[in-house]
Amino acid sequence: MHEKCGIFGVYSHTMDIARLVFFGLFALQHRGQESSGIAVTDGNGIKIRANMGLVSQAFTESDLAQLKGYIGIGHNRYSTTGSSQPANMQPIIASSEGLTLALAHNGNILNVRELRDELQPHGYDFRASTDSEVIANLILASPGKDWGEKIRHAMHRLQGAYSLTIMTDNKLIAVRDPMGVRPLCLGSIDSGWVVASESCALDHIGARFSRDVEPGEVVVIDNNGVKNYRVKSSKKALCIFEYIYFARPDSIIQGRLLYEARQAMGEILAQEHPVDADLVMGVPDSATAASTGYSKASGIPYCEGLLKNRYVGRTFIEPDQRLRDLGVQLKFNPLSRVISGKRLVVVDDSIVRGTTTPHIVTLLRKAGAKEVHLRICAPPIRYPCFLGVDMASEWELIAARKTIPQIRDYLDADSLGYLSLDGLIRAIGLPKDMFCLACFTGDYPIPVQMGMDKLALETLPEKEPVGTQK
Ligand code: SF4
Repeated sequence: MHEKCGIFGVYSHTMDIARLVFFGLFALQHRGQESSGIAVTDGNGIKIRANMGLVSQAFTESDLAQLKGYIGIGHNRYSTTGSSQPANMQPIIASSEGLTLALAHNGNILNVRELRDELQPHGYDFRASTDSEVIANLILASPGKDWGEKIRHAMHRLQGAYSLTIMTDNKLIAVRDPMGVRPLCLGSIDSGWVVASESCALDHIGARFSRDVEPGEVVVIDNNGVKNYRVKSSKKALCIFEYIYFARPDSIIQGRLLYEARQAMGEILAQEHPVDADLVMGVPDSATAASTGYSKASGIPYCEGLLKNRYVGRTFIEPDQRLRDLGVQLKFNPLSRVISGKRLVVVDDSIVRGTTTPHIVTLLRKAGAKEVHLRICAPPIRYPCFLGVDMASEWELIAARKTIPQIRDYLDADSLGYLSLDGLIRAIGLPKDMFCLACFTGDYPIPVQMGMDKLALETLPEKEPVGTQK
């Protein structure tokens, strides 16, 4: 399961902007590993560097030296809409009638085809195959006497998930969709400002966390300071998988440190699904905090039974099934001297297709584990995501096709326990109605038939990567 993207932005007259954006993106690498890009402005045009690959591979010292300015935005991409290729790298630059903006997007727009069809006859040229390009052009096409007004007008037309950093020739703008599906936060650094997908990126560059950008909020930063505007929505839908898996455990979202939330998931999981066992371990790294919580609540000692090769990316980095299977072996090595002859509780964050977990169970059994009891920090995933998470089609989701006992047998586990939805909400400690829970419940915050627009966009032809013009 992949998150779509990580976004970052800085406004500072005193600091090395490109270097700050680089290290901000470096801290957000877990949100996207396909490509990375930085755009800066000194008030006289926008300069951009973007490349395929990890942040550390995408830029050189000489790239950063050329990116001089006082506003910068950056983007780490993992694609859900639009294929993985240079044309779809971000930030995107778009221009119309003397106005230019650069934009970085995390999320997924559902009514993208309708908007694209509407804009194209008016001369808006689409060079990539992403919904992000549609957002950029929609903002340019929207009425309004200033950027704040144009963006708010565009927000009334956009349906779906979007956290954005936008740069004009003199402004840094942060936008979060009215449902607040993807996180976005604001911080300060010396006399400047920083915007990031997650607060861990602020910590890494020495910025101070100020607050979350609220759902429906537009924050405009320029020489006159910070202004904010609101677009109202009756429905909130923060993706609950940010708490379970996507965001880093050292990030704070809506006042909740994710490490603590994940520990609480493990504690409640131990209460809901107790078992007689010798050791508790987590599938590293995303289930580590939860496994310590399970150990604390159950009194069963914690151990590191699987070692992770930290230089291999997340398991699904390669979409090919054969490489996926191989990826598990490349990624984990069991500590057989620790686990041999033991009854293990193995905590994992979630089960999506069920393709990775059987290999982990096999690895542990081969290493001598006597029993393997799987405990999962999320309820069964029965419905696909239409809001920017590359999860799987419904027919690929193991819990959409099998009962829990059937899944247990398929995974070759001695027992299997999923955290209940109520247990998950209690662990996070925030109101249930602020979350999207659709992949567990099928209750989507937006009608799902609109998700077909995403598929339609993927079939559109792709062109060369250049800025868009009216
Ligand atoms: S459907 Fe699931 S993965 Fe998608 S936004 Fe909602 S909670 Fe997150």
